[in-house]
Amino acid sequence: MKYSIGDLKIKTKKECENYTRNLINTLGCCILSKDNEHFNFFNNLLKNHPKYEIKKGVGINYFYIQNNPLTTKYYQTLIKRLDGSDVDFSWVYCCQFRVRENKFYLDRAMRFVVKNDTIGFKQKQTILICTICNVDNEPYENYHVDHDNPSFCELKNNFLQLTTQLMPIDFLEYNIDDPNIFKDSDKGFENEWKEYHTQNCNLQILCDNCNLNKNTMLALTTKFEKIDINAHLSVIELKDKCKQLNLKGYSKKNKPQLLELLQNK
Ligand SMILES: [Zn+2]
Repeated sequence: MKYSIGDLKIKTKKECENYTRNLINTLGCCILSKDNEHFNFFNNLLKNHPKYEIKKGVGINYFYIQNNPLTTKYYQTLIKRLDGSDVDFSWVYCCQFRVRENKFYLDRAMRFVVKNDTIGFKQKQTILICTICNVDNEPYENYHVDHDNPSFCELKNNFLQLTTQLMPIDFLEYNIDDPNIFKDSDKGFENEWKEYHTQNCNLQILCDNCNLNKNTMLALTTKFEKIDINAHLSVIELKDKCKQLNLKGYSKKNKPQLLELLQNK
């Protein structure tokens, strides 16, 4: 894993913590206004805070370091906002890079990058026909582009293992369908992922029903592993069980039924 705070490259969270602690101890009690050489470091560090927007408020006038009122041998870091209000923030917390590890936003941005590939795959089909059930007379919107072995998640995880690019730190908000996209500063990551995806994806067309069933099976098997019961029920058996119950999709509504069924196998 690699991290960065502004231009500073850091290998581990521990290294980040040590670096920041040393810096704070060296600086001691002080004010770090925008013209201070360390202002940007603290500004970038703060972006790791899950409540960055709240901490920042109307904007940052300066950072300051003062003795911790509880134990004066330690320092605490604070923000003076543009409206004159003060707020403290835990620099240790910021060194944990929790925001950067927010896989949820990363997943959405990574999906957006390959969206054109999947749309293009659908558009390029001369006839739309479901790979599983062969249905070919459904309306256009009922056909979906599916990642077949490797799944999208497998592709994504493999890429994250392989890439030497820095993990994107935060994301741009885009629109309702695609809430998060990569920033220009993550172009390297974005382009490498796009290329990796193009070279390694295996796309297929599925109809609404088969796509839903496939996702249901994935959700079921994941759920099934999580609850750790009936360790030897195969996907085919699960499929049969679902058929018996007339379960078309995995939803909150049919979850209790399904769990009961799995437990009583
Ligand atoms: Zn089908």
